[in-house]
Amino acid sequence: MSSITDSLKQVQQQIVQTAMQCDRNPADVQLLAVSKTKPATAVIEAADAGQRAFGENYEQEGVEKIRTIRRLRPDLRLEWHFIGPVQSNKTRPIAENFDWVHAVDRERIAKRLSDQRPEGKPPINICLQVNISGEASKSGVAPEDVLALAKAVSVYPNVKLRGLMAVPEPETDPVKQHEPFKAMKTLFNQLQENGFDVDTLSMGMSADMAPAVQEGATIVRIGTAIFGARDYPNR
Ligand SMILES: *Cc1c(COP(=O)(O)O)cnc(C)c1O
Repeated sequence: MSSITDSLKQVQQQIVQTAMQCDRNPADVQLLAVSKTKPATAVIEAADAGQRAFGENYEQEGVEKIRTIRRLRPDLRLEWHFIGPVQSNKTRPIAENFDWVHAVDRERIAKRLSDQRPEGKPPINICLQVNISGEASKSGVAPEDVLALAKAVSVYPNVKLRGLMAVPEPETDPVKQHEPFKAMKTLFNQLQENGFDVDTLSMGMSADMAPAVQEGATIVRIGTAIFGARDYPNR
C-alpha cells in the first residue's frame, strides 16, 4: 500500500474513533483532503483509495489540477472545494470549476459567485469564514456580523449558504484548542435558530482535528496528515 493510501485510512480511522468517543455519528463528519501544492497524481491516488472531496487554496493551481485530472481520469467524479481566501477578480474561474467555496467573508464575493455561476450547474455551496480568533490580520467576518452577512448572501440565487468555516489561530494547548471551535458551534446554532437552513461547520486541520470534531465539525480539512508536508507553504 502506498503512503497516501495508508495515511488516508489512518485519518479516516481517527475521525471515526473521535466521533464515536464523543457520541457523534462518524458519517456526520466529512473528510476534505486538502491537496494544495500537491500534484494531480497525488489526488488520483487518494481518489483511487476512495476519497471524493478535495480542497484547493489557489485559483490557478486548483483549476489546472481539476482540468488535468478530468483529462487523465474522466471516470472520477470528484467534488472540489475552494478553501483559500477569495479575491473578487478571481471569482469567475472559481464559480465555473468548484462545487464549494469555504471562505466567503463579504457580500460582494457571494454576489459575484452567483452572477458568474454557469447556467445549468446547481448553486455553488458557500460557507462564511468567521474570524473567530479576532486577529487583526486574518480574513473572515467578525462573529457579531455573521447573522447580517448570512442574510445578505441569502438573496443570491446561484449560491447556497451551507454554514460556517474557521481557521483559528494556531494553539498547542489541547484544552485551549477547544475554545474557538466551541464559539463556532454557538454561532452555527444561532444561524439555525434564526431560520437559516445550514448543515456545515468546516473546521479542524491536521493539527487540531480531534477538538474540532469533538465540538461539532461536519467537514474537517486535512492536508499534511494525508499528503505529507508541503514543499512550499504559501505563495
Ligand atoms: C492548508 C489548509 C488546510 C490543511 O492544513 P493541514 O495543516 O495541512 O492539514 C486546511 N484549511 C485551510 C484553509 C488551509 O489553507
